[in-house]
Amino acid sequence: MLSNNSDFKALLLLHGRDRRFSKLLQEESQLPTEIDRIDSRILKEKKSVELALSEWKELEAQNNSLEKEIISVTDLIHRQKSKQLQVKKNEEYTALENEIEVLKNNQNKLEDQQIDVLLKIDDAREVAKIAEEKISLKILDFEKQRESLVGHSKELRKEIEILEDEISEARKSVLPSIIYNYDRVKKVVSRPPFLAPVEDQKCTGCNLRVSNEVVSSILVEQKLTTCDQCGRIVYVER
Ligand SMILES: [Zn+2]
Repeated sequence: MLSNNSDFKALLLLHGRDRRFSKLLQEESQLPTEIDRIDSRILKEKKSVELALSEWKELEAQNNSLEKEIISVTDLIHRQKSKQLQVKKNEEYTALENEIEVLKNNQNKLEDQQIDVLLKIDDAREVAKIAEEKISLKILDFEKQRESLVGHSKELRKEIEILEDEISEARKSVLPSIIYNYDRVKKVVSRPPFLAPVEDQKCTGCNLRVSNEVVSSILVEQKLTTCDQCGRIVYVER
């Protein structure tokens, strides 16, 4: 058929709506995956903040336990020193002297460790602060993206429902015999386009050359014709 045939024009209108319909459905079907992807990125960012905070907390805990150890060693040193003042025998005095020496070494070691941990705490605190600030902005941004996808999904649904009504409306204007053929083609081809203009004796749906019979059927007999290669309904633009 020729595109300016009024029966065919009704089919072209229906086809346009069907194409848009399948495009919208496809777009709609991809949205949940996109939303899931954003959710997992939000989760990942939140975890990285938690990690920075837990590293900092872990160091604080180490510092606290070192602090306790230092206090108890210091107490012990004081106790042994006052004991030393009370002993009479030389050997007892020397034994305590040695013990105090060992304790002092231990005290020094613990204090060095504590300085080390305190420096790490400064770094970790800074890292956690930056992570919280930067990542909370990132998360905010992801949440906005998510919100807009959810909004888009609602709009799409509305648009799809309106289009469904418009499609049933358009189907009423197409001749039953044409609808019958069109629906058959839809089943065979499975994906739009279901109609394709012929240009230079080539079907623009499959890009293959159609036979002379097909061309003659379109142009001379002006019948509803299908491509002998892909099965789409072919027509000539007029
Ligand atoms: Zn074809």
